Order: sequence, then C-alpha cells, then structure tokens
Amino acid sequence: MLTIGVDIGGTKVAAGVVDENGAIVENALRPTPADRPDLVAETVADVVKELSRGKDIEAVGVGAAGFVDETRSIVRFAPNLAWREEPLQKKITELIGLPVVVENDANAMAWAEARFGAGRGESHLVCVTVGTGIGGGIVIDGHLYRGRWGMGAELGHMQVVPEGRLCGCGNLGCWEQYASGNALVRETREIVANQPERATTLLALAGETIEGEEVTEAARQGDEAALAAFASMADWLAQGLADLAAILDPGRFIVGGGVSRAADLFIDRTRETFARVLTGRGHRPVADIRLAELGASAGLVGAADLARRR
Ligand SMILES: [Zn+2]
Repeated sequence: MLTIGVDIGGTKVAAGVVDENGAIVENALRPTPADRPDLVAETVADVVKELSRGKDIEAVGVGAAGFVDETRSIVRFAPNLAWREEPLQKKITELIGLPVVVENDANAMAWAEARFGAGRGESHLVCVTVGTGIGGGIVIDGHLYRGRWGMGAELGHMQVVPEGRLCGCGNLGCWEQYASGNALVRETREIVANQPERATTLLALAGETIEGEEVTEAARQGDEAALAAFASMADWLAQGLADLAAILDPGRFIVGGGVSRAADLFIDRTRETFARVLTGRGHRPVADIRLAELGASAGLVGAADLARRR
C-alpha cells in the first residue's frame, strides 16, 4: 500500500508517493504560496491529486515547520508561513477525501532517519537538524516522542547561555543562536570584525557581506577565522548533545540539515568535545554521533510513513 508525504517548506512544497520501505516511487514540486498561507492547503491538495492519479493511496502525511498540536491536525504557530491556529488537517482532508496526518517537519525527518536512514537498528535516538536554526526529533523505545501537547523536541530553544544572544523565539541564549548555520555566520562576522588579519582568505572570497557558503569555502582553504567559527559551532553543538544525553541517554545522535553538508569541517571535533564533556564519562557508553543519510527528502518520507502508521 502506498502513502503520500508532503513537506511544506518556506519556498517549495515537495511531495512524493512512498512505499512501505521508505522508497519514493514518484515525486512532484510546487512553489509555496508564501504570501498567501490560506492557499497552502489547496497547493497540497493539488499536488496530492496529481500524484494519486492511477494509484491506490491510503493516507497523506504532511510535514510543516512549526508547532503542531497533539492531535496532529492544527498548526498552532508557523514562523515561515504566518499561520496561527491553522486547521491544516481539516482543510486538506476536505479537499482530497483521504486521511491526513500533520507533523512537525523535524519530527518527520527524525522518524524517516529512525526507520530508513542513519537510525536503523537503534531504538533510542535524538535527531538534530542543523540549518539556519536547529530542529529536533526524539525517538524513545521505537516511538516518536511528541510531548504532552505536541510541542516536544524543540531542541534549538534550550537556553545554553543565560542572557545570551536574542533568538527569533523571543528568548535569550537559545542553543540555535550558537550551534546553527546562522550562528556560524554570525560568529565568523564577529571574529572578522575584531581580527580581520585572521580572515585574509575569507575576505578575498566574500564580497560586502560574509555568507555561509563563503565561510565553508574559506574554512576548506584553511582560513583561520572561518576555522575558528566552525570550531566554536562544533563545541556548542557537542555541549548541547551532551546536555541531551544527560536527560535522554540515547544510543545514537543523528546530525542532519543543510549545515551537515559541511560536516567534514566540524563533526570530528563535535564527537571529541562530546566525549570530553559528557556527564558520567568513563562510566557509561558514549552515544554514536552519525550523519543523516536521507538528505532533503527525509521530511516527506517520514511524513508518509507516519501517515501509514496513523
Ligand atoms: Zn529560541
């Protein structure tokens, strides 16, 4: 039996027909009507209808960035789409006449990695998606952990620095302000502003403003400032993982998201720092830190599989 997974991103809606082994049989893309969030349900219905043609589809799973309620139907708040209490499941169900499950996108990704990717064979997992911010998903005893109201695993908003950097969520010192792609760029800019002599390669590569791609490229060419920013990000990432290990004791961490494409520049240091700061070190197994395997399609694959298990 087939299900359809849909990943609603800030710029595009990616959808795919997924089989029970997590393989994408067919896929389709639509631009996200970002300025008209009320039309997103129609866009999803449209792409689902296209993909359903001639196939027996059992259910649809929809992943969206935002806070999804515990009944997996209402998006309470979505930073990218200006949704407030959006009854997404009801709207889409009415348009397509199939069962629909709505899930937080990072939860969907974590589930896909747990079932079909880097988490295979491990029952206790924490998946950390490092992109512009940090998303998270937690699998405990083989089950996705959502919390009491569906708001669990917002790992990026653990406070790691009291009175620290202002976060998009309104609080100060959140983890994603220190260990994400945006944090990497911000840290680099600060180093360059104070010690431009350490950033000759980076300054030659970058124009007026330093962006993430340039930091990565400069680090690969040995730029001191860019390497220092990556080292800082690696250490903050490791510290957060160690805090999560203190609470959840997972067997494995999975690091994914856009920034993980530059993993060669930070993952070894993350593992080393993690092992050094882990509480109870020397008296406990050290969880693996692995890279995600499913790439950008993880969200839709996970949403499709969650719909199958609804
Ligand atoms: Zn925050």
